[in-house]
Amino acid sequence: SKVLVTGANGYIAAWIVRNLLEKGYDVRGTVRTQEKGNRLKEIYEKFGYGDRFEFCIVSDIVKDGAFDEAVKGVDAIEHTASPVTFSTELEPQELIRPAVLGTVSILKSALYHGRDVQRIVFTSSCGAVLSVHPEPRIFNESNWNDQAVEMSERDGKNAAPITKYRASKVLAERAAWKFLEENKASINWDLVVINPPFVFGPVIHDVSTVSALNLSTGQFYSFVVAPGEKAPQVLRTNGNSWVDVRDVAEAHVAALQKEEAANERLIVSAGSVVWQDWLDIAYSIAPTHLPSHTNLPRGVPLSDSTGGDVMYQINYDTSKADRILGIKYRTKEETLKDTFADYEARGW
Ligand code: NDP
Repeated sequence: SKVLVTGANGYIAAWIVRNLLEKGYDVRGTVRTQEKGNRLKEIYEKFGYGDRFEFCIVSDIVKDGAFDEAVKGVDAIEHTASPVTFSTELEPQELIRPAVLGTVSILKSALYHGRDVQRIVFTSSCGAVLSVHPEPRIFNESNWNDQAVEMSERDGKNAAPITKYRASKVLAERAAWKFLEENKASINWDLVVINPPFVFGPVIHDVSTVSALNLSTGQFYSFVVAPGEKAPQVLRTNGNSWVDVRDVAEAHVAALQKEEAANERLIVSAGSVVWQDWLDIAYSIAPTHLPSHTNLPRGVPLSDSTGGDVMYQINYDTSKADRILGIKYRTKEETLKDTFADYEARGW
């Protein structure tokens, strides 16, 4: 069967496409330009799946009917395309509008032109789940980040960049559930929403320099390889959660296959982490596996209490996704080792 993946040249989407091809699906990816499509096609040819990957160009996802042609003849859709940026310069609406309208646009095209579509998987985010509090919390699928929406409305352009991004994910996900509810009577497909926290791990999409990395892996590089003068408290607090990109891809494919995933919101997280965890692991594995990374930043190891308080602030209960999708998450050690091997191969 054939699966449509939107924003197929993105970090996560490129792994979703690869996982689908490995499992025998045909894949049609949407990209914004011919050149991005050509590059992507080359990548899957290199992996030996070129004949089962095709792409089409959707230059503006916001336009009504943008996906009308793309959805024809596909059995399922993975919708990942959405602006991912922590820009200080943007008005919240500059993120919210493409995120929300792009989502409604693909759902509408699926409703009116996707005769064969049986399931749509939507890549939301834990940013649509969490809210920020002084004390650590454990979130689950019943939580919604209304806080980010309120702060973006209140502060506009001056809202924290991450808050504006999170607001766009909340509103896009809400728009998807609302569309489903309002069109229940005429829809032949069901919806699965995947909510990942920070996604890390090796890169297979078209990236030639560190500065071209997507947001999450760019942050990973900057904290773990080049944290500069970042204070130990920064590395030990504001703990968030993380997941390996290959496990996120696996979850997106399992979400197509598991009947019980229908109309569920699913948090896929490998656990909580502070940046110093990565530094400690990097230091412990570098001498044996990574000859060129022996000069990695050390921070203050978590075992050393002089570094100050440690706070794992944002944590998730993943029992629903564990039960339905059954993903076995990679460990921090595996992800870090493979990420460094990727840097090594790129000469970074
Ligand atoms: P990338 O930036 O690598 O990919 C984003 C994709 O969306 C690209 O294909 C990009 O196209 C496309 N896109 C962005 N803005 C627009 C727009 N206005 N119109 C059309 N296409 C657009 O990001 P990720 O792979 O990290 O993210 C993919 C999805 O996963 C997003 O929905 C994101 O919110 C979600 N996510 C990511 C997490 C992470 O840590 N990385 C965590 C949780 C959720 P182009 O290349 O042409 O710009």
